[in-house]
Amino acid sequence: MTDVGDKWRAARSVMPPGHLDAAGCNVPSDQVLGAVVGHLHLERERGGYAAEPDLMAARSALAALVGAAPADVAFLESGTAATAALLGGWRLPLGGRVGFARTEYGSTLMLLRRLAEERGWILVELPVDDDSRLDLDGLRSRLAAGLDLVSVVHIASHRGVVQPAQEIGALCRAAGVSLVLDVCQSLGQVDVTGVGATAYVGTSRKWLAGPRGVGFLIVPGLTPEMDAAVPTLGGHTWAAARPSPQPGAIRYEGSEGAIAARFALGVAAGEHRPDLHMHLADLGRTARHILDGAGGWRVIEPLDEPSAIVTLTPPRGDSVADARTRAAEAGLLISSAPVARAPLDLGEPVLRVSPPPGTPTETLLKLARVLG
Ligand SMILES: *Cc1c(COP(=O)(O)O)cnc(C)c1O
Repeated sequence: MTDVGDKWRAARSVMPPGHLDAAGCNVPSDQVLGAVVGHLHLERERGGYAAEPDLMAARSALAALVGAAPADVAFLESGTAATAALLGGWRLPLGGRVGFARTEYGSTLMLLRRLAEERGWILVELPVDDDSRLDLDGLRSRLAAGLDLVSVVHIASHRGVVQPAQEIGALCRAAGVSLVLDVCQSLGQVDVTGVGATAYVGTSRKWLAGPRGVGFLIVPGLTPEMDAAVPTLGGHTWAAARPSPQPGAIRYEGSEGAIAARFALGVAAGEHRPDLHMHLADLGRTARHILDGAGGWRVIEPLDEPSAIVTLTPPRGDSVADARTRAAEAGLLISSAPVARAPLDLGEPVLRVSPPPGTPTETLLKLARVLG
């Protein structure tokens, strides 16, 4: 494996040998683990409030990954909570039109449907090609016909296709339409700079390899129409009818949270190296070429797609659940995506293999034998 993968592994004194589920929950570095534990100790020694760290460095490290500013970052407890805070509070005009694609994440889709029903938002499905990649001409024409907001998942949880985020960003900006980019699976895996989205929704534990229990929003395009779903003491000033939000992303934060985990996510974001992107793309390609056809399993996304999320469908006589069990018996940690993960894009569950940086080819060959 390349240097960058070796370095990533060397930063972890414990690395489960058969771990192939970075997209589910990755392995934090010793530094990140030390930051969580160290802060918990400090909270006990000094008192939680007295130990409160300056999260400025954490905000800056995250913001830098998308080319935003530290004040654009808000910490929440998950990607789902971040999406709910962002979309739930957005005051779209009456009959607001929201573009989305069929690869939309299950919980976001449920939220959009509810908001459509309760607030009269109109959901406009954007066209995609056979790989579920957004059709840019189709997006251009839907934008011209009138949209108020576009929601796109950069890389889905159930499919390794990388959406053309930079092109989507350029089209939305040219049309003056807000773009929400779900980077839960892309930040830390692929380049997310140069998109110019209004808002990014992310989570800590996946490709950024931060601790569990933290999600975040990055809102460089914050407008007065964008407020949190629920006003908070830390993010708003009192007004009986409509509390007014503080400037910046802080409006989305409550005062309580897993501070140790937020602090350590900043450490993880600071450890991220852009040369991991090329390495992970290579790893994904290698995995697809090894696994496609093994025991009759078929890779779903194009074999050379530049991501490290590999999804597979079973041959007749095998199943996703069986394969996971066999893999576990062989000491391999893989995952699956149930239909509910992306109900408009998945007809049946798929097996998901997502190698962390530095995964040896031998581990992928072992999985091919297990599938066969
Ligand atoms: C994991 C994920 C989410 C939700 O993040 P949580 O932290 O699990 O709530 C949203 N979108 C995508 C594409 C994801 O993979």
